Amino acid sequence: TREIQLAARPSGWPTPDDFRLVEVELADPGPGEVLVRNTFMSVDPYMRGRMNDVKSYVPPFRLDAPLDGGAVGEVVASGDESVPVGATVLHQAGWREHALLPASSVRPVDVSQVPASAYLGVLGMPGLTAYVGLTRVAGLREGDAVLVSGAAGAVGSAAGQMARLLGASRVVGSAGSAEKVSWLTDDLGFDAAVNYKDAPIARQLKEHGPFDVYFDNVGGDHLEAAISHLADFGRIAACGAIAQYNDTEPTPGPRNMMMFVSKRLTLRGFIVSDHADAAAEFYQRAGAWVADGRLTSRETVVDGLDHAVDAFLDLLRGGNTGKMLVRL
Ligand code: NDP
Repeated sequence: TREIQLAARPSGWPTPDDFRLVEVELADPGPGEVLVRNTFMSVDPYMRGRMNDVKSYVPPFRLDAPLDGGAVGEVVASGDESVPVGATVLHQAGWREHALLPASSVRPVDVSQVPASAYLGVLGMPGLTAYVGLTRVAGLREGDAVLVSGAAGAVGSAAGQMARLLGASRVVGSAGSAEKVSWLTDDLGFDAAVNYKDAPIARQLKEHGPFDVYFDNVGGDHLEAAISHLADFGRIAACGAIAQYNDTEPTPGPRNMMMFVSKRLTLRGFIVSDHADAAAEFYQRAGAWVADGRLTSRETVVDGLDHAVDAFLDLLRGGNTGKMLVRL
């Protein structure tokens, strides 16, 4: 079977040379172990941070070892009767075609109503991120006007729709292409959306603000623009800052920080893994929204482990609409 290893730590934008496709042998599962044939693996922006050798909320990837990350697959051999052959499971051993894992580290998922890949997107970590960012971090209230950046991505597209389902009065998104902008307004029910590549984001937000909540996936000029267009007592959920993940120099901060004082603003960062206790409530509510068609999602699927690195690089460049996945 094959896996992708980190061959070198990228400086700035990663290149294909920073990765290596390796052939490995796997043993049969022993007692308490399962062998999983992965069907989909996730590529996520946070993986870029893990390629750097810096201390963060998750340890860095090791050099010359397989990368990891969310994946779903089918159990093809089992040494544990609680996870039988044929079960579809979610686990963290992505970036490889097969994984030999302790049965305790995989979670069987129900694929009778939704495809397995949904557990990597709208019903998985990105969906939970959107949900806790709105409900627990931004403290979304009925009637709030909400701005979401990175709105055509996995987290952003869920956040915009959920904001509406949770009572927002108005939802505005920003994304990087005309096609993405039409998806947001025509299919996902955003009230308005802007293409940040058309003109400076601060200028484009003028006609859509003020906002009570900003769900920030981008950082940089988007954050500065949002601060300018927040209402008094506005709240920012700082989810990510993808505009700067490949920067080699520290990004300058927003120039309008004094507005935190004059408008009494709040900014709160969060990491989804701190909110595992919200997962049950999230699955219940989001599962129902998906089932009745009120929460929709899209996937951009790249085929084959040989193209997983391309998929990851393409994600950082905005090649995806909705969740970026690799089908194995
Ligand atoms: P996405 O599906 O949103 O993919 C990344 C998107 O970022 C691209 O599609 C691209 O879309 C956009 N992008 C890339 N460069 C820029 C740029 N310079 N300016 C503006 N947009 C850019 O990924 P996810 O939904 O998985 O993640 C979204 C954000 O959420 C990321 O910042 C990620 O780190 C964060 N996150 C945080 C978590 C947490 O626990 N705090 C958990 C999960 C994700 P476009 O074409 O619009 O530019």
